[in-house]
Amino acid sequence: MSGGSDVVVIGGGLVASALAYGLTRDGCSVTVLDEGDVAYRASRGNFGLVWVQSKGDGLPGYARWTRLSADLWPDFSADLLSETGVETNYHKAGGLHLCLSEEAMESHAALIHRMHNVHGAADYGAKLLDRADLEALAPGLGPDVIGGSWSPHDGHASPLYLLRALHAGLEARGGVYRPKSRVKAIVPLASGFRVETDRGEVHGDKVVLAAGLGNRVLGPMVGLDIPVWPLKGQILVTERTGPRLSLPTTFVRQTEEGSFLLGDSHEHAGFDTTSRAGIMADIAARAIRTFPYLKDLRVVRSWAALRVMTDDGFPIYDQSETYPGAFTVNCHSGVTLAGAHAMALAPMIARGRFDEEMSMFSVRRFHVQAH
Ligand SMILES: Cc1cc2nc3c(=O)[nH]c(=O)nc-3n(C[C@H](O)[C@H](O)[C@H](O)COP(=O)(O)OP(=O)(O)OC[C@H]3O[C@@H](n4cnc5c(N)ncnc54)[C@H](O)[C@@H]3O)c2cc1C
Repeated sequence: MSGGSDVVVIGGGLVASALAYGLTRDGCSVTVLDEGDVAYRASRGNFGLVWVQSKGDGLPGYARWTRLSADLWPDFSADLLSETGVETNYHKAGGLHLCLSEEAMESHAALIHRMHNVHGAADYGAKLLDRADLEALAPGLGPDVIGGSWSPHDGHASPLYLLRALHAGLEARGGVYRPKSRVKAIVPLASGFRVETDRGEVHGDKVVLAAGLGNRVLGPMVGLDIPVWPLKGQILVTERTGPRLSLPTTFVRQTEEGSFLLGDSHEHAGFDTTSRAGIMADIAARAIRTFPYLKDLRVVRSWAALRVMTDDGFPIYDQSETYPGAFTVNCHSGVTLAGAHAMALAPMIARGRFDEEMSMFSVRRFHVQAH
């Protein structure tokens, strides 16, 4: 067996990388084991929002956790830049949710009112906007946009630069990233864990299962139930153009380089990652309805990727009761939560247990008996 570490992190996407980087900040020696290019990789196919305003309806603790992450993001991103020279292109200009029908506006207004109650009016910061307010923030709106909301805590970043920065930060702090290392087995030992891959074995005092959809299979090896499932999303990318949209919306945003990203489709398609023309047409049509100037831009790329979902949409964070020292971290907002994962959750894993407030994210919430 080679390469003993304080912590072996399984996965190599945004969740695993943020935790691994955070663990090295906490003084742990870390080895990251990542599968290959055939794996499902949400982290390389997402939209790049750091989003707060709609998160936590039904679970106030999740609203607070998301907000904490957004509050940590500026320092997190600045630290990554100073340690690695990689700019994540994080901007916290606020974010817009846009509504294109009376019905959508009504249901969104109800959500914003509920979220006010969740956060407390003084803290929440988001507000409903009419068309004229929106037009001032995002000039060039189409006539169908009737209103929406804005939050100062929302922002966006380049997920690919974020991933690169996290890997560079991990390695700069002595962590080891091993690609093409699919984990086949995790064997609990009297002390620690033996993790077996296609390319040899590694020992860890602790092991963190952060392999996205791969966690479903890995969990039972250490007594963990991890019921995550795929939800497909497609994204279109336009050619680059001059700056037009200074803040992100939930389905159109302009990147630092000038491309527009168009997205936010949701499809139950199992593990199928093919792009479908009908969905692409719907995404493009809605984007043009919202910002008619987009009709003049060519689409240069598109892809589909699989979200890592749970039944209630909230994260699953757990430590195995059968094999303490085996942790798992899963979520569908790995960009948004990267700040909290690196700066708040990783230190808990380093200390050997999640703080009590994280118990709201335990999978035990799905095991409540019906009476
Ligand atoms: C279309 C789309 C849009 C999205 N938009 C946003 C957004 O705007 N904001 C936001 O916050 N989030 C967004 N997300 C979600 C975000 O991308 C995910 O929450 C995040 O990427 C999940 O990261 P992950 O590391 O858990 O999973 P993944 O990125 O899927 O990574 C899993 C990793 O585990 C590895 N792996 C799997 N099995 C094994 C094994 N047995 N051994 C070793 N390694 C293994 C794989 O190689 C892979 O690298 C979006 C997702 C999609 C699909």
